[in-house]
Amino acid sequence: MSAVWHPFTQHATEPVPPRIVETDGAYLETSDGRRLLDGISSWWVVTHGHRQAEIVEAIKDATGRMDQVIFAGLTHAPGEELAEALVGMAPKGLTRVFYSDSGSTAVEVALKMALGYWRHEGDGRHRIAVIEDSYHGDTIGTMSVGERGVFNAAYDPLMFAVDKLPFPTGDGAATLAAFEELAASGKMAALILEPLVLGAGGMRIYPAAVLAGLRAICDRHDVLLIADEVMTGWGRTGRLWACDHAGIAPDILCTSKGLTGGVVPLAATLASDRIFQAHYSTDRRRTFYHSSSYTANPIACAAALAQVRLWQQSPMQARLESLSAMQAARLARFAGDPRFHNLRQCGTIAAMDLQVGDAGYLAETGPRMRAHFLENGVLLRPLGNTVYVLPPYCVTDEDLDLAWGAVASFEA
Ligand SMILES: *Cc1c(COP(=O)(O)O)cnc(C)c1O
Repeated sequence: MSAVWHPFTQHATEPVPPRIVETDGAYLETSDGRRLLDGISSWWVVTHGHRQAEIVEAIKDATGRMDQVIFAGLTHAPGEELAEALVGMAPKGLTRVFYSDSGSTAVEVALKMALGYWRHEGDGRHRIAVIEDSYHGDTIGTMSVGERGVFNAAYDPLMFAVDKLPFPTGDGAATLAAFEELAASGKMAALILEPLVLGAGGMRIYPAAVLAGLRAICDRHDVLLIADEVMTGWGRTGRLWACDHAGIAPDILCTSKGLTGGVVPLAATLASDRIFQAHYSTDRRRTFYHSSSYTANPIACAAALAQVRLWQQSPMQARLESLSAMQAARLARFAGDPRFHNLRQCGTIAAMDLQVGDAGYLAETGPRMRAHFLENGVLLRPLGNTVYVLPPYCVTDEDLDLAWGAVASFEA
């Protein structure tokens, strides 16, 4: 018996989960002494590897000095230094860092900043444009800007209306045309998107040129661009930010998951000076009234700072390129395999779709696949019929062979 209510878990049908007692690098160790390869980076948060040495050391060091400190009316070095480092590494023009504690809160903050911006500018724009099949979190606001479906149907009465663009297929012309028309209405406050890869939407990938095209339309019609880099940030797509592939900067950028290397929770919403200036006033009503209890937790900030230093001091770009090539080589083995189609890759993320009559999360194939992978020593969690490997950056060739070998041996 357990008192735990697990996330995204149907307790009536799912088996008792393995109990993890230790994590190390790319592996999780279970209470019965088995080692599981973490093929999904523990839901996309672990970047360098579990318990990365410098990050763990920074946390130990930080706990010797501070625990939580209120961040309104007070400040501290870990929060200040991390903000400065983030501004230095982020796409150009993002000059202010607002802390919270999860991807969802980072997105909520972004939406509030965008609406606040237009209100303080004296402009009534308040509509949000979104891309079909997107995912931005599980709070009411982030569900509102994400795809609607079985996961959130019960909460529909609480969600606000948004304007949906088709997912960009091919050269994305239909998406760009739809957005051009919406943006020209003068009612759009912001476009929120996951740059290049829709994660929870099934690892769907679109070209960097489409992202650049959407940015250009935002510029033409004065619509704010919010880049939700919660999953794509910190190298997942083969560059530090997915936005870097398109050479663009959003007006607001959300980061969380890999920010601390996946060791402790932290999130940041980065804003351009224009957004900050709209809130900067002697008129108190323009204050950005938002806070999380654990805003800028000094221990989490110290962990993130150590993570950021890894980017500044080690050859991360070379590592991403070799990992991307390692993934490409394994994905190529499935070309022509009649069981799989839509083979695709963006940097370190590789995915393909299992041929099944009726896909979707409710099908029984998902649980069977997960059980098969676990039996083979690998943690993978297909999204519907999409199988993907999104590993920590420390994986070896042997690790990837283990993961993709488990995929190859699955009998549909
Ligand atoms: C995971 C995710 C979120 C939500 O992050 P949480 O930390 O789970 O709240 C938001 N946006 C994207 C793109 C994500 O992948």
